[in-house]
Amino acid sequence: MRLSSRIRQIVPGGDDGWGLYYRARSLAAAGKPVVSLSIGDHDLPPHPGILEAMAESVAAGRTGYAPVEGSDRLRAAIARREPVPTAPEQITVTVGGQAGLFAAMAAALDPGDACILLDPYYATYAQTVRAVGARPILVPCRAEDGFQPDAEAIAAALTPETRAILINTPNNPTGAVYRRARLEALGRLCAERDIVLIADEVYASQVWEGAHVAPRGIPGLAERCLSVGSMSKSHGMTGFRVGWVAGPEDAIARIAELQVTTTYGIAGFIQDAAAHALEAGGEAEAEIRARYRTRRDAALAALGEGPGVRVSPPEGGMYLMLDIRPTGLSGTAFAERLLEEHLIAVMPGESFGRAAAGHVRIALTQPEAVLVPALETVARVAAEAAAQPVS
Ligand code: PLP
Repeated sequence: MRLSSRIRQIVPGGDDGWGLYYRARSLAAAGKPVVSLSIGDHDLPPHPGILEAMAESVAAGRTGYAPVEGSDRLRAAIARREPVPTAPEQITVTVGGQAGLFAAMAAALDPGDACILLDPYYATYAQTVRAVGARPILVPCRAEDGFQPDAEAIAAALTPETRAILINTPNNPTGAVYRRARLEALGRLCAERDIVLIADEVYASQVWEGAHVAPRGIPGLAERCLSVGSMSKSHGMTGFRVGWVAGPEDAIARIAELQVTTTYGIAGFIQDAAAHALEAGGEAEAEIRARYRTRRDAALAALGEGPGVRVSPPEGGMYLMLDIRPTGLSGTAFAERLLEEHLIAVMPGESFGRAAAGHVRIALTQPEAVLVPALETVARVAAEAAAQPVS
């Protein structure tokens, strides 16, 4: 079949950076006891109350088409949760944060436009920019700068076609939580150059150091920021596919028109489960937050300060980035060694852009009893490799 150039260029060269994850998945399917520290999927089901709310909704017959932009109840619950004053009409519910990212990019970018991505970046970003026919421009964030966004470096990379900047705070994979001053500088830049800021805030409820600063609350950004949220990480609801975009009402109404042509919304019983989760208070979310906080600290202790890995403690999110450059191996080679020889699945840094080369990302998605011994093995393998570095 003759396919459009737009769809063919989503994954150029056929490598989407998930190869190692697919390999780990097929080993696990073949019965191998793989310890999965690769993708950000929770190891425990959502709070029982959320499942009960969903079952009740199904029993009540909420199985037909549901409002495409989200039920009034769910939009209101999300609006109340937003860290800046937000009307329900400023929210549209999407099929997870990922469809929210796609919708936000489709709203901000025309074919031929460019979007700034801060490298390292979440593995789907470049593909999503290309999926709307635009081009990613990568601006590296430096480890020595805490992986914070640098408005000057971004300004230097702007082209006349650049219509959007995508940021992610708390950040996957680096764990950086963006400082207010950095966001204010970005706000000034976006206002001066009439650029849309797309802010991926799906980890907003998992902050370990400092505080999450909502970009929509920054001067100059309220009118030019599309914020993407999700219940996947905060409430352990990855498979439910509940996300949203928050932003100016007219932009949100346009995005809802796009959704009529793509997803036609999410199931009513899922919307009811999500609304219940948000209305029921913070217990389910607090449990998840506490779980990852404890794991983060246990993981840092298990990795220690051996010769093979350098760790910057993450300020937020569900991951740890390990700098394994002392081993002389690429992130991919190190991750392959861990998988083939020790059945430990991690993500190579190279899946997240060029700036994360020589790193691996660990998802803290296992209980301490599994996570700690696995990370002790990672530290030992790195120390052994560092003792015989590849020149
Ligand atoms: N944004 C970031 C930074 C992520 O890490 C993820 C998932 O891992 C998503 C967006 C998409 O999440 P979902 O579509 O499950 O809401």
